[in-house]
Amino acid sequence: MNDKTHKNQSTSSLYSLRQRYLFVSSFIVILIFAFAWLAESHVSQSSQQHRQNIELRQQAGQHIRLLRNEVLYIEKGLEAFMWGPSAAHREDVHHSIDSSLHYFEQLRQHAWFSRSHMNGELGDFALDLNALHTTLNRVMNMRLKKGSEVQDIKEFKLTTQHFTATIEELRHTIPNLTSQFNTITELWQQLQQLYKLFDKEVSNGPGNEKTQAQQQIEAVYTQLDKVVGATAAHPQITANPAHHQLLRELQETLGLWLLSYADITQQNDADHQNHDINYLKHTVEPHFEHLWDYIKVLENHIDDFSKDDTIALSQVANTIAKIVWLLSFFGLAVISVAYLYFQGTVLKPIATVAAALKRDADGEQVVALPQAHNLETRHLIDAYDEMRQQVQDRQQALEHIAMHDSLTALPNRYHLMGTLQALCETSQQEGATFAVMMLGLDRFKEINDTLGQQTGDDILKKFGQRLRILLRDHDNVARFASDEFAVLLHNTNNEEALYVARKIRNDMEQPFDVDGISLSISCSIGIALFPEHGQDKDELTRRANIAMAIAKQHKTGISCYEERYDTSSVERISLAGKLRQAIQSDALHLCYQPQLAVYSNKLSGLEVLCRWEDAERGSISPNEFIPVAEQTGQIHALTEWVIDTALQQAQQWRNNGLDCGILSVNISAFNLHAPNFITMLEKQLQKWEFPVEKLMLEVTETAMMADPEHAIKTLGELSQLGLKLSIDDYGTGFSSLAYVKQLPVHELKIDKSFVMDMTTDENDAVIVRSTIDLAHNLGLKVVAEGVDSQEKQELLEILDCDYLQGYHIGKPMLAAQIEEQLPPRKEKGSKVHHLRDFR
Ligand code: C2E
Ligand code: MG
Ligand code: MG
Repeated sequence: MNDKTHKNQSTSSLYSLRQRYLFVSSFIVILIFAFAWLAESHVSQSSQQHRQNIELRQQAGQHIRLLRNEVLYIEKGLEAFMWGPSAAHREDVHHSIDSSLHYFEQLRQHAWFSRSHMNGELGDFALDLNALHTTLNRVMNMRLKKGSEVQDIKEFKLTTQHFTATIEELRHTIPNLTSQFNTITELWQQLQQLYKLFDKEVSNGPGNEKTQAQQQIEAVYTQLDKVVGATAAHPQITANPAHHQLLRELQETLGLWLLSYADITQQNDADHQNHDINYLKHTVEPHFEHLWDYIKVLENHIDDFSKDDTIALSQVANTIAKIVWLLSFFGLAVISVAYLYFQGTVLKPIATVAAALKRDADGEQVVALPQAHNLETRHLIDAYDEMRQQVQDRQQALEHIAMHDSLTALPNRYHLMGTLQALCETSQQEGATFAVMMLGLDRFKEINDTLGQQTGDDILKKFGQRLRILLRDHDNVARFASDEFAVLLHNTNNEEALYVARKIRNDMEQPFDVDGISLSISCSIGIALFPEHGQDKDELTRRANIAMAIAKQHKTGISCYEERYDTSSVERISLAGKLRQAIQSDALHLCYQPQLAVYSNKLSGLEVLCRWEDAERGSISPNEFIPVAEQTGQIHALTEWVIDTALQQAQQWRNNGLDCGILSVNISAFNLHAPNFITMLEKQLQKWEFPVEKLMLEVTETAMMADPEHAIKTLGELSQLGLKLSIDDYGTGFSSLAYVKQLPVHELKIDKSFVMDMTTDENDAVIVRSTIDLAHNLGLKVVAEGVDSQEKQELLEILDCDYLQGYHIGKPMLAAQIEEQLPPRKEKGSKVHHLRDFR
C-alpha cells in the first residue's frame, strides 16, 4: 500500500515525454517561425526597396539622358549658329538651354536626388548652365557682328550649290560623257571635304601659314579645273552649242567658287584677332566641359547607386544564408541534445529493463532497475515490476499446484521425491538414518464405489489432516497416489518407525465422521529404512511400496521391507510361477530335523522343513522360495500342504508305532492374518487325528513384530486351541521384551547366527546366555538352533538351554531316514488327544 502511494506520488511529480515533447517542439516551432518571419520581412523589405531603387534609377537615368540630349542640342545649335548665325539657330540654343534647366529642375525634385546626396553637385551644375547661357549670348552676339563674313560664306555656298546643280544637269543632258562627269563629281566632292577640313582648321585657330587642307584644296582645284577644261574642249561638247554653253557656265561657276574661297581665306588670314572663336574656345567650351563632367558624375552616381543595390541584395542573401546556417546549427544542437536526453531517460532505461527481462527469463538474478525520469519510463518500469510480480506469483502458484495435491493440499509425489532426494544426500553426508513409510488405505475402492467419490475425497482429506497432525513438524507427509500417502520420518530407526506406524494405525482406527456417517478406515503401512533398504529415492519408495503391498496382501497392517519380499527380479517372478505348479504337483517334499531335550538327552521332536527339488534348477532353498510364496499369496496353500503332509507322515509313524515327539511346523506371519487359518488347522488336526498339544507352530520374530497386537490376538486364539507356539529366529527382530511378555508363546528359538558363533564371539555368547535366562524368567522354554558342534552342545547344556537343534544333533532328513531314529511309542494304544477332546 505504502509502496503504491509512493509510486503514485513519484508518478505525479513526473512529466510525460509527450508533454515535454509538445513543450519543446512548440518552443522550437515558435522560434523557427519567428526566424522565418524575420527573414521574410527582411527580404521583402529589401526587395521592395530594391524595386523602388530600380524605378528611381530608371527615372533618374531618363532625366539625365534628356539633360544630356539638351546639352548636346545646345552644342549643335551653337555650332549651327556659328556656321550661319541666324535667329532660328539662336532660338534653338535658347530653347535647349531652357529645356536643360527644366530637366535639371525635374532631376533636382526627383526622390533619387535626395537619396544620392547630389544636392551640392546639382547646384553647381545649375550655376554652370546659367553661366553657359550668359557666355552663349555673348559669343552669338560676337558672331553676329561679323555680318560680311557671313555674306561671303553665303555666296560661297550658293556658288557651290550652283556647281553641283550644273553637273547634274550636264550628266543628264550629255550621257556619253558620264565617266568625265563622274570624275568631275568625285573631284568636286573631294574639294568639298577638304574645304570642311580647312574650315575646322581655321576654327581651331587662325594662323599665318597655309593649312594642309588649303594646300590640298589648291591641288584638287587645279586638277578639277583641268578636267573641266578638257571636257569643255571635247568635240562632242564643242559640237553642240548648248552643251558648250553649259560647260562654259560650269567653268565660270568653278571660277566663282575659287574667288569666294579666296575671299574666305583672305578674310581668315586678315583676322588674326578672331575674338568670337577665341571666346568660344576659352570661355564657352570650359562651361560645356564642366557640364559634361557633371553629367558624367550623375551617370556614375546612377551606376554607384545600382552597385549599392546589388551590395544590399547580396547582404540580404548573406543574412538569409546566415539564418539558414543558424537554423541548421540550432537543429543539429536540438537533435544532439534530444538524443542525449532520450539516451539517458528512455533508451538506457528501456535497455536496462530489457536486460532485466532477459535475466529474469533466464532465471538469473535481476539487476537493479533504473530511475525513471519521465512518466513513460515510470510506467514501463512499473509495468515490468508488476509483470514480474505477477509472473512470480503465478510461478509460485503453479509450483504449488505442481508440487501439491489439490484435494488434500499436501505435497504430492513429485514434491516428496524431491524432498526424499535431498534427504538422502544430507543423510548420506551426516550419517543419519531415516524411514520412508507408504500408507495405503484398505478397501478404499469399495468406499468410493459404495459411498460415492465425494465421500472418498472427504475421507482422503481427513486422513491427510490426521496424518499431518500425528507427525512431527519436520517429518514430511505427502499424497503419493490416489489412496496412498507417504511419510518421511527423519532421524529414526526401525523400532521408532514401527512405533510411529502402529501409532498411525491406532489413530486411524478412530472412525471418520463423513456426512454424518461414522467410518472406520484401516491402512496398510510399508516401511523402508535409509540406508539399510536403499540409498536413493527410487529404491526406498519402491521398497516401502513392496512392504506396503505385503502388509496389504497379508493384512498384517504394517510391514517392514525385507529383501525376500522383493519379487522384482525376473528370476523371482519365474520362481513364483513354478512354485504354484510345484505345490499343485507335489514337487515339494519335507525334511525333518531332530531336536534334543537336554534334560533327558533324548529326541524331543522334529522340525518340519520344506524342500523343493526343481527339475531345472535343482534344490531351491526355502530362504528363497518362502518369501516368494509369502509375496504371491501362495504361502497359505504351501503352509496347508506342509501341515497336511507332515501330519499325514506323523500319523503314518504313529501307526508304525513310532514317536516323533513334538512336531514343529514353520508358519509365516501372513498365515496368522488369514481368516481361515485356524479353521484349516482344525481341519488338518482332525483329518490326521494328530494330538494338538504335540503340534508346535514356529513364527519368526520379525513377522510378529510388524503387527504385534494382531499377532498377540491370533496367537492367543491358537494357544487356546491347545497347540504350542514358538518364536523362531529370536534375536534378529529386536523385539521388545514387553511384547514378548504379552505373547502366548511356549518357547524361544535362539537364531542360529548367535549360536553358531557363540564359542568364538563373546557378544553372541552373552546374547545366548541372557536370552536363555530371560526366557526362563518369562516361563518359556529355549531352543538353540544351529548347534553344529559338541563344544556348543556342552556350552548350551551348561547355560541351561532346554532343547538343542543343529547339524551336530542331526541334519534335516527325509522321513524314511529320520524314521530310524524315532523311538517307539511308549504307550501303545494310549488315547490320542484329539483336538476336540482337548478342548
Ligand atoms: P528355521 O525355521 O530357523 O529352520 C532352521 C534352519 O536352520 C533350516 O534351514 C536348517 O536346515 C538350518 N539348520 C539347522 N541346524 C543347522 C546347523 O547346525 N547349521 C546350519 N548351517 N544350518 C542349520 P532350512 O531348512 O534351509 O530352512 C530355512 C528357513 O526356511 C527356516 O528357518 C524356516 O524359517 C523356513 N522354512 C523352512 N521350511 C518351511 C516351511 O515349511 N514353512 C515355512 N513357513 N517356513 C519354512
Ligand atoms: Mg523354524
Ligand atoms: Mg530358525
